[in-house]
Order: sequence, then C-alpha cells, then structure tokens
Amino acid sequence: MTKIREQFLLDDEVTIESFPKNSCKICLNQRLSGEDKCVQCLDPPSFVGDWYFECVNALGIYHKYKQDGYSIPINILSDLILLLKFRRGKAFKNFAGSLLAKGLFKILEQRGDIYGDISYIVISPKFKRTEENQVTYILNPFMKILRKNGYDIKNISNCVKRLRDVGKNKVKGFKERFKDIKGVHEVELDDLEHKDVVILDDIFTTGSTSWDLARALKEKNAGKIFVLVAGRHWLFDEWPINELYSGGNFSFSYLINYFSRMDYIRDKNKISKVNVIDLVVQGNQIYGSIKGSGGNYDLKIDLDNKILKHSCPDFINDRKRNKKFCKHISIIFIKIRKEKNEKFSCDILNSIYRDLESWQFNEI
Ligand SMILES: [Zn+2]
Ligand SMILES: [Zn+2]
Repeated sequence: MTKIREQFLLDDEVTIESFPKNSCKICLNQRLSGEDKCVQCLDPPSFVGDWYFECVNALGIYHKYKQDGYSIPINILSDLILLLKFRRGKAFKNFAGSLLAKGLFKILEQRGDIYGDISYIVISPKFKRTEENQVTYILNPFMKILRKNGYDIKNISNCVKRLRDVGKNKVKGFKERFKDIKGVHEVELDDLEHKDVVILDDIFTTGSTSWDLARALKEKNAGKIFVLVAGRHWLFDEWPINELYSGGNFSFSYLINYFSRMDYIRDKNKISKVNVIDLVVQGNQIYGSIKGSGGNYDLKIDLDNKILKHSCPDFINDRKRNKKFCKHISIIFIKIRKEKNEKFSCDILNSIYRDLESWQFNEI
C-alpha cells in the first residue's frame, strides 16, 4: 500500500500534501528514472522549442472534481486556490493568498540552491490592466514576507504587459495554448543584466504562460528563470483518493479544515458560538439538532447509505454543492470528537472524505 503523501505545513495550522518528489523539473509530470525531466520535456515539440525557464516548484496538486456541474476541490490546497479564483469577498481571497504565500516562501527557503540568488519577481499580467489579477493576492503577502526576511527581490510585474487578449485557456488543447500565447508578453525594461528571475503563479497547467513570459524576460537579458506556483493542475477527472492518498488516515484538523473550507482556523469563533441542542450517535447514524437564527436546524448523517442531510440556508445555497460543511455540521464533528474521541470522529471524517464522490449532500 502506498504511504500517505508527505505533508507540508503552510503555516502552524494548515497542512497540505507535498508534491511528489520524482516529478519532471519542467512540467511536474512523472519523469524517467535517471533523468530530471519527462520524455516530452527532454525533447520538447517544435512549437515549444526552448523552455526558457530552469524548473518549476509547486506546493501541491490543484484538482477539482466535477460532479453535477459543481467543483469539489480534492484537497485543502485546491480549496485555497478556488477561494482565490471564485470567491467574491476580499476577506476569503486575502486569507487564501496569504496562506499560499507563506507556503511558497517555505519552498523558496528550502530550495536556497535555486532561489538563493533571485533579483526579480514577476507575475503574468492580465490583458486589461483594470481586470483583477488573482495572483496579486499571493504576490502582495509574498513580497511582505520576503522583505521581512531580508530578501532584496524587486517586483517588476508592472513592467510587463500583454500585447493582446488570448482568450480562455480552459477550452484549448496543449498545442493551441502555446501557439496562442506565443509573443503575448512584453517586458518594458531595457536590460535585466543576466540576473535571476522568479515567475510566480497560482496554477501551472501546460506551462505555456510561464513559457512565454520567460521568453520575453530572456529577450531583455534575464539570467536564470525559475517558476514558483501554488498548484500543479491535475487533469484527470476522477476522485483520486485511492490512487493518491491511500494508506494512513488524515488527521481530524486536516479534514475539519478541508470540510469547513478552513472556517475551523479562519473563523473559530463563528463555529464555537453555535449552540448544539441535541446530538445522538447510534451505530452508523448521526442525528443533530442545532439552534439557528431562523429556528432550529437538523442534521442527519447516514454512514451506511452515504447521505448527509441538513437544513440551514448556508448549507443549502452554498456549501452543499461543493460537499462542504457549514458551521453547524462542523460543530457537530467537534462535539463528537469531544464526547467520543479523536479516533472515532476522525474515522468518520476519513470515511466520508475517501468516498466523497459516492456521498450525497442533501437538503432535509
Ligand atoms: Zn516534463
Ligand atoms: Zn448549517
């Protein structure tokens, strides 16, 4: 049985799974033994030609599993990236961005061999300057951490522009992405004097964006270019628990963070204030009654038939579709842990998580 993936602390409280060590240094796919690159990156197709950058480092895997048209993030890292992409509120984005920045800084420090001599940092700009760039939610706290730790790295993102709109990458194939983005970036600086540059991004899919940005940097005499990203996009549309995470159990705090969309650490008070009126755990059935602002809410969890039913508006209108917990469901699990024990509550959460694609989250 495969061991549970090696873990990585973004900060003191949030754990994610590290990226597999034996991956290609360019694209992070599986590499050949004895090589540092995969077959494709050893001999890139003619439309790629040179990669321009030296290597890519990612915090972990970004993967959302599509079910009934909704995205279910497979892990905490994916959830953080999704918060950056799709949440409207700035509070969520700042929270997610600053956690990712903390994690990326750890990589930067751990890999002093490659990131030790960086002079510039850059993100790929949007075509329209007025359009919000979600990567700035990572870049801004990242710059703060760098300064605090004595790094003298200059942000040159404002000196890069996109010459045209390339449309949505999502709908394009591998070759099309490279063809469309080629020549899009322009660096408005005269000479980077062969100094090293790090390209920061939230998601790495084919690498085409970093590839063209690196090309533009090289045209202005950039030294070595390294790519640092939060998530490597996993392109298989399956719930990958068995293949990627078999063996070992996730901890209570990992899974309550995952299911509560990090409310467990982000909004502790919100959860602890919830008043549980009744909680019964009987065999594989859990019943809960929780005091709510508009009357009491019920919770029923049927572990045999893999059904979770709840009645609050937050669950019905938001959390249910991504198979997430609201504060009421979260407090029930915290209470189960308190009244039974860590292992008992943890086993239940693990059994739900591992088989999440079969679970139904419904309105009562
Ligand atoms: Zn590769
Ligand atoms: Zn609720």
